[in-house]
Amino acid sequence: MELQKINVKFFVEKGNKMPLADLIPVFHRWIQQDKLEGMLIDVTEYTHVHQGPGVLLIANEANYSLDETDGKRGLLYNQKRVPVKSGEEHLRTAFRRALQACSLLEKEPEVAGKMKFAVNHLQVFINDRLAGPNNAEGHQDLENDLKPFLNSLYEGAGHLLIPEKDPKKRTGFEVKVDKAFVMAAADGQPARLVVDLSVTDRDSFLRNIALENRPAKAAKQPAVAVKPDGDPRPLIVLDPGHGGIDTGTHGLDGELEKDVVLSFATELRDRLEKNGKYRVLMTRSDDTFIPLNERVRFARGHNASLFISIHADALPKKEGQAEGATIYTLSEHASDAEAARLADDENKADVIAGVDLTSEPDDVANILVDLAQRETKTFSLQFAHATVKEFKSIARLHKRPLKSAGFVVLKAPDVPSVLIELGYMSNRSDLNHLVNADWRGKTAGALMQAVDDFFAPRLAGAAAMGARR
Ligand SMILES: [Zn+2]
Repeated sequence: MELQKINVKFFVEKGNKMPLADLIPVFHRWIQQDKLEGMLIDVTEYTHVHQGPGVLLIANEANYSLDETDGKRGLLYNQKRVPVKSGEEHLRTAFRRALQACSLLEKEPEVAGKMKFAVNHLQVFINDRLAGPNNAEGHQDLENDLKPFLNSLYEGAGHLLIPEKDPKKRTGFEVKVDKAFVMAAADGQPARLVVDLSVTDRDSFLRNIALENRPAKAAKQPAVAVKPDGDPRPLIVLDPGHGGIDTGTHGLDGELEKDVVLSFATELRDRLEKNGKYRVLMTRSDDTFIPLNERVRFARGHNASLFISIHADALPKKEGQAEGATIYTLSEHASDAEAARLADDENKADVIAGVDLTSEPDDVANILVDLAQRETKTFSLQFAHATVKEFKSIARLHKRPLKSAGFVVLKAPDVPSVLIELGYMSNRSDLNHLVNADWRGKTAGALMQAVDDFFAPRLAGAAAMGARR
């Protein structure tokens, strides 16, 4: 049986009870503003039909609906036309469009905070009853196309395929991505059970779809993004700041930030490689200038599980003294004036080297990736907390060691990222540390411990998953 008309339905998270009628004006707005692919035409309401299709947004090539069939609400993408494509492309397009609508909807003011989509719980239906009966043969055919596709999206996670048994319904499966783990409390958010994708699964899932949506240049190389050599270990990208023409800040005796941070990153890389649990790549391993966006793209393109940018700060004399390490995560609103000043300084790298950023494709704006950002932010904070904890006994910390600001290098939407300012090159005792090999070794050791803390629950989860298969 050929894969024809595809329906993909992503379920909303449990307990989301928003009235469907409230979504009608949203869909009308989408039509006026032409918000989705495929020429939007009209909105139809079925809210009077018990457990029915809810609210339907009709488009030329497909229908989108807030669907409550069988009492389970979700966003259903129902492809009407049959494109001439391979099975995988066909599935990918349907998934992408369904997720685009989910992501868009989550952000609408009427919906924000009231309804979220669980990207690990979905339904896939194919064809219609005229094209092929819903029987074991049909399920086998669909499974043959669906399984490899799901494997490529939810890398490393198992899936439960529950066949639609009712012969009056279309051939299809309910899909549950089989992973649950407890996420530790982080930055005011309580510990919670995440019946969800693990960090790498969710990331690679969204990244794979996002790659499809990028400009042609990037879209040519999606295969590179996923484990180029079949090595399942998480990849850590170390990013020594500055380089080449961009020297960074200066120490009291003329030391350059770009040299200090490269020595540290190299030491850390060597230790992580010896540790054996991770793969490690550096954005630069010599005195080369790398634009900020290039560093982010490097981490994303290599499917990194963690991005650590290494810097050292300096305070102008008139601003007094400060000392110790600070760990930064991304925020649009800097946590204080110093954080804002520093982000401005670090972000100047591209200005120094005359890089024109206006020509950069804005792939970070890719709407699909927004769904992943909730998780990425939490994971970045978890790693920042782990780093502060491990640094406490070894390295000197700034009096407020955890801060946030709008650093360009932290903007990968799907790679947990932190920026570490190791200390102040304007402070004599910090500087003595920064250029000292023993201090470097101890501090790199503490950071490696933080990496272990961060990955331990994930690696345990992955091992359990492997054993179950
Ligand atoms: Zn710097």
